[in-house]
Amino acid sequence: MSELGSPERPLRVAVVGSGPSGFYAAEYLFKQAGLTVEVDMFDRLPTPFGLVRGGVAPDHDKIKSVTKVYDKTAAREGFRFYGNVSLGEDLSIDDLRGHYHAVIMAVGAQTDRALGIPGEDLLGSHAATEFVGWYNGHPDYKHRQFDLSAERVVVVGVGNVAMDVARILAKTCAELVSTDIADYALDALDLSRVREIVMLGRRGAAQAAFTPAELKEFGELADADVIVTPDDAALDALSAAALKLKPDRDVEKNLTLLGEYAQRPPSGKNRRIILRFLTSPVEIVGTQKVEGVKIVRNVLSQKSDGSLAAQATDQTEIIPCELVFRSVGYKGVPLDGLPFDAKSGIIPNQDGRVTDTPGFYAVGWIKRGPSGVIGTNKPDSILTVESLLADFRAGILDRETDSRAALEGVLGERGTQFVTFSDWQRLDVLEQEAGAKLGRPRLKFTDVSKMLEALNTP
Ligand code: NAP
Repeated sequence: MSELGSPERPLRVAVVGSGPSGFYAAEYLFKQAGLTVEVDMFDRLPTPFGLVRGGVAPDHDKIKSVTKVYDKTAAREGFRFYGNVSLGEDLSIDDLRGHYHAVIMAVGAQTDRALGIPGEDLLGSHAATEFVGWYNGHPDYKHRQFDLSAERVVVVGVGNVAMDVARILAKTCAELVSTDIADYALDALDLSRVREIVMLGRRGAAQAAFTPAELKEFGELADADVIVTPDDAALDALSAAALKLKPDRDVEKNLTLLGEYAQRPPSGKNRRIILRFLTSPVEIVGTQKVEGVKIVRNVLSQKSDGSLAAQATDQTEIIPCELVFRSVGYKGVPLDGLPFDAKSGIIPNQDGRVTDTPGFYAVGWIKRGPSGVIGTNKPDSILTVESLLADFRAGILDRETDSRAALEGVLGERGTQFVTFSDWQRLDVLEQEAGAKLGRPRLKFTDVSKMLEALNTP
């Protein structure tokens, strides 16, 4: 039998998930001199790129251009994309085990973290991630309804997802029309009556999770003022001491920007984004639907490890509102046949090797949790692939597997219409052509059946 990893007997690797972490892992495999690999990348959607397509805000088109790097990986000889193939429905973990020497899980974090407070499930209380999926035209979220007749919206959390949600709510139609925002979302936002977006950070301004670029954008909105009180923008003694010990340029820039906003008199624009710190929601109030958010005032306290935590006082207040977006982080979901750590929402792993599951590896958010920007995934994926390569060199991955043709046979028998990368490129062109007719960068397909129909049309 030929040597594993030779042109006669390539190392066969499945990557489940086609977001950044999956593509960086695939690229690093192809970069190994003297190793011949076949990488089959699966996605449950017909479209690749995960959160770059379905999560990155539509007005952040520069960030989306990272897909050009992934296109180069997809053009590698040993690469195949199998879109519209769902793990758990079309293929099982055992199917993957039978067809590949190694499997890299790059499935991300597909749900949101809960607040765990009363009223969280009231009508009008939504996970921010659902709104993000909706305005980005993700097929799973296109039918979601958000009552944009609300005048005041509360966004819980001050991470970059919360910033995206607040900014999209605050932008005018004229600011959004040049983006690839879903057409139905553009129409709905055009009719929006939202006037005030209140963002709640449970700790202080110096602990906000947003980054300066996102905060700076707030100050440049065409028809929205950004409001923060001087008290909220000020640096408290505990945070000042922490920053002295461990300086952080992003925090310093955030504080400078917040200080500027606190000095800026409102200019009377139609909308306002209000940033509030040291406040936690304790209840979402309402009978049939959201009527307000009960918040408690917090103070900072120092934990034994030196970090600063929010500690509730007895001061409460109700912010009347009709819509709430909970933006306190994404969370991974368990997959049949693989271990799962329910507390942290990740596949337990050591340096990317899935615990007690030889031949299986994890990258990205399902490996380490939902943190970091797109670029963070590159070194993270490389580390995992290094573990995989060490196992390959140690002979651990060397066994007989079924071929690519056999895998396609299995999908065919199950009636799965898989979408190739060139199929996706056709969809991509169709989206751009449809957008061009309207003077927009693209008009996204938001329905899987419409995508398949378009591909089946000669
Ligand atoms: P995140 O950055 O982890 O922010 C979560 C926010 O929720 C934090 O402010 C956190 O406060 C708060 N929070 C958590 N539990 C809470 C609770 N029980 N009550 C009140 N507040 C609570 O998460 P994310 O915004 O979902 O973003 C996920 C990742 O994607 C991040 O790494 C982010 O930078 C990245 N991302 C980047 C961009 C971009 O580059 N433009 C855009 C979107 C997302 P504490 O800090 O106190 O825990």
